[in-house]
Amino acid sequence: AAKAAGRNRVRHFSPDLRSAVQQKMQLAAELRDAIESDQLVLHYQPVMHVPTGNCSGVEALVRWQHPERGLLPPSEFVTLAEKHDLIVPLTRWVLATATRQVAAWDAAGLPLVIGVNISAHHFTTGTLVQDVADALACSGLPPERLVLELTETSVAEDPKRAAAQFAELRISGVEVSIDDFGRGFSSLSQLISLPVGVLKIDRSLVAGANGRASESAAAIAAVVGLADAFGMRTLAEGVETQEQLAVAAELGCTFAQGYGIARPMPAHDLATWMVRRAAGRPPQPLLTAAA
Ligand code: C2E
Ligand code: MG
Ligand code: MG
Ligand code: MG
Repeated sequence: AAKAAGRNRVRHFSPDLRSAVQQKMQLAAELRDAIESDQLVLHYQPVMHVPTGNCSGVEALVRWQHPERGLLPPSEFVTLAEKHDLIVPLTRWVLATATRQVAAWDAAGLPLVIGVNISAHHFTTGTLVQDVADALACSGLPPERLVLELTETSVAEDPKRAAAQFAELRISGVEVSIDDFGRGFSSLSQLISLPVGVLKIDRSLVAGANGRASESAAAIAAVVGLADAFGMRTLAEGVETQEQLAVAAELGCTFAQGYGIARPMPAHDLATWMVRRAAGRPPQPLLTAAA
């Protein structure tokens, strides 16, 4: 009911009474409060270790439980956060919450690696290394358990600065992965000079990997070859079908992630999912998980 009321209200004020710009300003102001009042939620998507079939880690994906508009996906507010100087506080909240959660799973006998998405904006502010150290210190999580996901473009924006921060993060024991690899146009010479642990192969490539003979499969094979040559591992993103998983496995991807394995889900559901999976019973599709 609250959701419906919220929709009505938006319709009521638009477009003559309140411009789209004003609405964005209001949403940004609300987001500022939301970060402080714990309206943000993390969902966790399992990452499968392909050779063993085990779930070795999870990726933290932020959502906003908006009091009137319901559960908002990151596409509705992450860019907004970047534009309104809110991405650093948002990411600090994500880092703190995710590391605390993984430390709690650890204590419960469920050791997982956690991936956290880092915006290019945060990468260029210069506070990232300290923010990561703070989250690790507060949660007590060992640095080897944290993987920061950066896109190709965030590296390309300021390669020198990127190299310096990658080096600092590497020294601190945290791993860095390149998210959405294959979607942008990375400079290979830049990439191979960075201490990158994992290439996350973009789901646009994985989506086309139906059969080994496909062009997408050839592209994935090339990325795996590149990763092998430089001591990196690969993760196939957006695996939706058994066939895509089989191709990823055949081509030597170390990790896989996607709706075909599990959707992102709240922390509480993840523990249940893990227990069922460990018991060898494939879990039912999780209808509670947000896409
Ligand atoms: P990403 O890091 O590449 O995350 C993967 C996205 O693909 C997630 O969407 C996930 O739900 C979706 N996905 C996973 N498997 C499949 C699949 O099999 N098929 C399809 N079609 N989609 C799949 P989500 O949660 O909406 O996040 C979108 C993007 O928002 C993320 O892309 C990431 O770039 C950004 N994001 C999410 N959480 C955070 C955060 O805490 N901080 C920052 N800065 N960005 C975030
Ligand atoms: Mg990611
Ligand atoms: Mg991605
Ligand atoms: Mg992405």
